[in-house]
Amino acid sequence: MFDSILVKPDQMYSLANVDADGDGVIGLEKEEAKKAFEKLNKKLESLQELMYAEGKRKLLVVLQGMDTSGKDSTIRQVFEHVNPQGVKVASFKVPTPQEMAHDYLWRIHQRTPGSGEIVIFNRSHYEDVLVVRVHNLVPEERWQKRFEHIREFEKMLTDEGTTILKFYLHIDKDEQKKRLQERLDTPEKHWKFNIGDLKERAIWDQYQKAYEEALARTSRPWAPWYVIPSNRKWVRNYYIASILVDTLEGFKMKFPPAEEGLDSVVIE
Ligand code: ADP
Repeated sequence: MFDSILVKPDQMYSLANVDADGDGVIGLEKEEAKKAFEKLNKKLESLQELMYAEGKRKLLVVLQGMDTSGKDSTIRQVFEHVNPQGVKVASFKVPTPQEMAHDYLWRIHQRTPGSGEIVIFNRSHYEDVLVVRVHNLVPEERWQKRFEHIREFEKMLTDEGTTILKFYLHIDKDEQKKRLQERLDTPEKHWKFNIGDLKERAIWDQYQKAYEEALARTSRPWAPWYVIPSNRKWVRNYYIASILVDTLEGFKMKFPPAEEGLDSVVIE
């Protein structure tokens, strides 16, 4: 069902040709999709509880996207009902001096999920082949090698029992303009407005090129990239919740067995 948005290993394509509106792909009208999303949200809630109770599986969800693509609101809306005990968000910002003193995967590995946990990466190690590349923060011969490191790192995580899903929230440049303008026009959103985002917007094409290469070179069956049409939040939410529910259902999890003799327990 999600094949059309799955990035095939090493198959380069142009993001400019991917429709960020993409409302027709799921074949639902807005109101239908919102209702379906509510149902998926409830399912996600019980599946996550089951996952936490079972305490075996580990799920890593990577969120990447251009500024204003909706990483924060995806986390808020898709994970609205889950139990914070079993779900963590790791946000990766400009590395601290201590992080800079280590290899780029050092800070990442520490935040990967433990048994029974879902961890959502709000930005990730992919910044180290995106912003780092676009701004020449390290020489090309260094970041070029990172695609291989990242593939191997993710392979190791999955070999050791972590399931990885990676979502690129795809908006187009017009949509970003609208969202930035809205932030500028709404005093309650000023805290989200970063003058620096305008500099990044000016090199939109360079970012898209960096994304295209990163997605193609690191999408693998064990750690796939999905390009999520994200101009419309209800389309984005529906896709992400569907893929999460599908994945968790595929785990075939079970509640741990009850202690023996529970049926004869009397609570005084
Ligand atoms: P966000 O945009 O994620 O809501 P911020 O506005 O604080 O949060 O932006 C975080 C910034 O940190 C982004 O500009 C991102 O490119 C940058 N960043 C993240 N990881 C790295 C990295 N490894 N090297 C350089 N910059 C990074």
